[in-house]
Amino acid sequence: MRGCSDFYRQTTGRSVTMGDKGSAATAGVGAVVLNVIVHGKTRKIKLEKVLHVPTIGFNLMSVGMMEERGAEVSFKGGNTIIKISYNVAACGTRKSGLYHLDMAALSDIAAVASLQHWHERLGHVNVTGVKRMIKNKDIDGLECSSMAVNDVCEPCMNEKAAMTPMPRAGGIRVTKRLQLVHSDLGGPMSEPSRGGGLYFGTFTDDFSRWTDVVFPQKKSDLLSE
Ligand SMILES: [Zn+2]
Repeated sequence: MRGCSDFYRQTTGRSVTMGDKGSAATAGVGAVVLNVIVHGKTRKIKLEKVLHVPTIGFNLMSVGMMEERGAEVSFKGGNTIIKISYNVAACGTRKSGLYHLDMAALSDIAAVASLQHWHERLGHVNVTGVKRMIKNKDIDGLECSSMAVNDVCEPCMNEKAAMTPMPRAGGIRVTKRLQLVHSDLGGPMSEPSRGGGLYFGTFTDDFSRWTDVVFPQKKSDLLSE
């Protein structure tokens, strides 16, 4: 299942079996919060141990799994009702032979994740930069569920160890904005950004330390950003 997930961890060597008996590799497992509509009202439900399978273009829920975990799923007259402990947890409607969960429009859902998670999603951009984006509301719907960050972020530590100090422009002190801009390019990432970019590029103004992050589709697009 694809979606906004928190507490995500990567998996290796796991796969799911498809209807055609082929198998698709899972990239990770996590919890997903869905905004479902029950009796005209929006409410949040949390699905745990959701598999992330990048090659599947749909979000799928297994009726067998739900039933195994104590849910009661019924189908009648083009509608489905999922009950947990006799309470309605979610409803669905049949469209073109498939049952679809009744959910609130995606634009109504803020992307909520922990600060650490945002730091990772944004290509390990510095935490102060992420905090500033949240404070300035730079990204629509970016919300933080917790301000906790890992004491040790492994990719950042590896990156720091491999980095050589950035040379100053001929040893001269910069005195103005945009006199010296450092840029860096990373990727390709295993998951594209919302805009479909597989790479991320950073621009840091040496004087003000103002930083911008872009997500180009191709490496060669970085200069046009
Ligand atoms: Zn990091």
